[in-house]
Amino acid sequence: MITLNIKQTDERYIAHTYQRFDVAIVKGKGSLCYDDSGKEYIDMTSGIGVNAFGYSDPVWAQAVAQQAELLQHTSNLYYTAPCAELAEILCTRTGMEKVFFSNSGAEANECAVKLARKYAADHKGAEYYNIITLNKSFHGRTLTTLAATGQDAFHEKFTPLTEGFLYAEPNDIAGLEKLVSENKVAGILIETVQGEGGVNALTPDFVRAVERVCHENDIIFMVDEVQTGNGRTGKLYSYMHFGVQPDVVSTAKGLAGGLPMGATLMGGKVADVLSYGDHGSTFGGNPVCAAAAVSVLSRMDDAFLSQVAEKGAYIRSRIEEAGFAVSGLGLMIGIKTEKPVSEVLMKCMENGVLCLSAKEKLRLLPPLNIPTEQLAKAVDVIIEALK
Ligand SMILES: *Cc1c(COP(=O)(O)O)cnc(C)c1O
Repeated sequence: MITLNIKQTDERYIAHTYQRFDVAIVKGKGSLCYDDSGKEYIDMTSGIGVNAFGYSDPVWAQAVAQQAELLQHTSNLYYTAPCAELAEILCTRTGMEKVFFSNSGAEANECAVKLARKYAADHKGAEYYNIITLNKSFHGRTLTTLAATGQDAFHEKFTPLTEGFLYAEPNDIAGLEKLVSENKVAGILIETVQGEGGVNALTPDFVRAVERVCHENDIIFMVDEVQTGNGRTGKLYSYMHFGVQPDVVSTAKGLAGGLPMGATLMGGKVADVLSYGDHGSTFGGNPVCAAAAVSVLSRMDDAFLSQVAEKGAYIRSRIEEAGFAVSGLGLMIGIKTEKPVSEVLMKCMENGVLCLSAKEKLRLLPPLNIPTEQLAKAVDVIIEALK
């Protein structure tokens, strides 16, 4: 199935941090991709929520190619059009005031943590450095974002991690209030739907309680939209489902439709917290990535986002009809399996559908523009594999 050469060379020279499937993907078009034997797959992964418009979408590819031919990089010592335009779009569509650009979700969260700590140091004192996150959360792989990740298994071999992280239980409002009253807290960081943690949606009451507790205690309210952002849940950002307005939103994965880009959005309260020299990134705001993101966001109007919600509802109803429990929001879907999830994944792959897992659940993150017929076919295969 896989060209021995690719596999052997990869295994010989690339650090063994990823347990890869026995497949080499060589090309893709829309929601379909092909391995080196020519086998076709319907992609229900989007490269883990990245390829918002699928593989090599022509509009996206043209935006990338045009910018690559014009100016690929020039450092943050100079102004460039694509990143200014992107920042304006992001702020206009969220009501946020300023943006910091980086290259990944972890970096977007690092910036969020720095913002909360500096705000607290400026307004309350440097001892207010604690950041509260949730058990089962996932916020990245740097030492600080690992500390933010509320899962002990990720911490074990890498201590000491960055200090000052506390963990609350998802949906336990009283527990959160207690943690805040007993500690000096700078910020609270949540995912509205925990992605890597098992596609667990927070209750609307809890999300609103986080906002209230932050307001009552002058704490920075931060939402990690790295996976839930950029249309994935049927709104541009998932917090928009809950009638809340965060002080900080971090995002990455789908933002540039397949190129590395992270963004940290700052509301009025923290817009002027960072000043010259406080933060930086060589590649942050790269013109090619920014042009890709402008193209992606420009296509996500209300009609597009409601189609995302409809496709999510379609998957949910078909899977539930087949007798399996579904979690998540929009096109971010978790399915409780009866068989081990690895078995279901392999069966789907055999039958030409790529899926993901999250903890013990099957996880689906299809391209947001997946055609209805391909989606229906993929769901048929998934249901067959679940049985
Ligand atoms: C993937 C993910 C991250 C980490 O993003 P990287 O780009 O891999 O650094 C952080 N937070 C959430 C919610 C994620 O899903």
